[in-house]
Amino acid sequence: MAKKEKRGRGIATRAIHGSKTEDKVEVKGPCSKVPIFQTANYRFPDVQTAANIFAGKEEGYFYGRFGGLNATIIEEKIASLEGAEAGRMFSSGMAAISNTMIALFEKGDEIISCPTVYGCTDDLFSHFCPNKLGIKVHFVDLNDLENLKNAINKNTKAVFIESPANPTLEIFDIRLIAKVCKEHNLIFMIDNTFASPYNQRPIEMGANIVFHSATKYLNGHSDVVAGAVVSTKKIIAKVKATAGLLGPSIGPFDAFLINRGLETFELRMQRHNENTAKIAEFLSGHKMVSVVYYPGLATSGNRILALSQMKGCSGVLSFELKGNMKMVEKLLNYLSDNTFIKLAVSLGSTTTMIQCPALMTHAAIPRAKRLEKGIADTMIRLAVGIENYEDIESAFKEAFKYLETQNGCAAHLRRSTRHIINTGRRLTKTQKKKRKNR
Ligand code: PLP
Repeated sequence: MAKKEKRGRGIATRAIHGSKTEDKVEVKGPCSKVPIFQTANYRFPDVQTAANIFAGKEEGYFYGRFGGLNATIIEEKIASLEGAEAGRMFSSGMAAISNTMIALFEKGDEIISCPTVYGCTDDLFSHFCPNKLGIKVHFVDLNDLENLKNAINKNTKAVFIESPANPTLEIFDIRLIAKVCKEHNLIFMIDNTFASPYNQRPIEMGANIVFHSATKYLNGHSDVVAGAVVSTKKIIAKVKATAGLLGPSIGPFDAFLINRGLETFELRMQRHNENTAKIAEFLSGHKMVSVVYYPGLATSGNRILALSQMKGCSGVLSFELKGNMKMVEKLLNYLSDNTFIKLAVSLGSTTTMIQCPALMTHAAIPRAKRLEKGIADTMIRLAVGIENYEDIESAFKEAFKYLETQNGCAAHLRRSTRHIINTGRRLTKTQKKKRKNR
């Protein structure tokens, strides 16, 4: 009788099982880096272990949708950076936020959000949550805590904020909002994408859940789309159960890249902070700029609050050009065609990127609503990279010089510079008074 071939005889079978070495791969040795476990599933050592894992009696990997080794490594690291007990990675920041909404809330629940949030989060809260999930989201000006208290009713389950907010860079008082949430037994969620845990750790200030678009500073190189949620073990267990069901998990390669990006996280953040503080100063002193939104500026009404809860003001600012949409278009096209600054919608990358929220990230919000939220047509959002500062400033100097040669520029320059430089929205008289007395 011919010798039985354990590895099969057919070409297909041998192509799949032909390597004895592959069977034996077990990375236990002292690799200095963890390799990519590019696998959809994991072998069980025996049936009893498999049964225990499925019954939840034992922890272990079994199928990529429910988690994988490369993902676990960054979940642990991001949780540790944020001072949280546990974390869950997702295939995008939006997957992290939407999955958590589905995991924790149900029809009839209500949530309070700050007015200005990332465009897709706005869309999720304004349409998807109420229309598809029956969860109502109220956009409330949380600069005034009375507004928050007044908006809470028996159905309110949570408060969501972005601080700094995208793209107005508004800052909210995390400690005070956390206190109100605690008093009313509400879950306090914060999207910490703009600040990153280098600059701000909301859990230490009383927040319960922190979200990240890991696409941004955590990965840092604009080559991965991913998201993260960190919180208590109890909340993350609920988030994980829903994620296993809905399937918005991160793949091993993307997790590997984020792990690599995290190694330079602190260095990158230091440079983002430095470059942005300098370019904010430069822009705020430029005759073609009417307003700069950056909490780190000495003239910013948010500076004291920002620095009471942030180590640095991170790498994004917005500004308004003295001019119309045509001028904005000319500036952005010039920068994109003639300098290294990219016309692209993201942030937190090594590369400096520029975009116009009214036409891009926040274009889905109806104009009147968008203006109410403080996002002017001529607002430009600048995500400052980690290039040499002098080159970033030179690129802007060159582009502004070009704009000055354009028709109609002189008339725009006669418009006075506004020195509000604090929040996106104009404050009411009462709000101004409250702010002063705070
Ligand atoms: N949160 C903020 C503040 C963002 O700026 C973004 C995207 O730009 C997201 C969430 C969504 O993240 P992602 O694009 O990774 O889904």
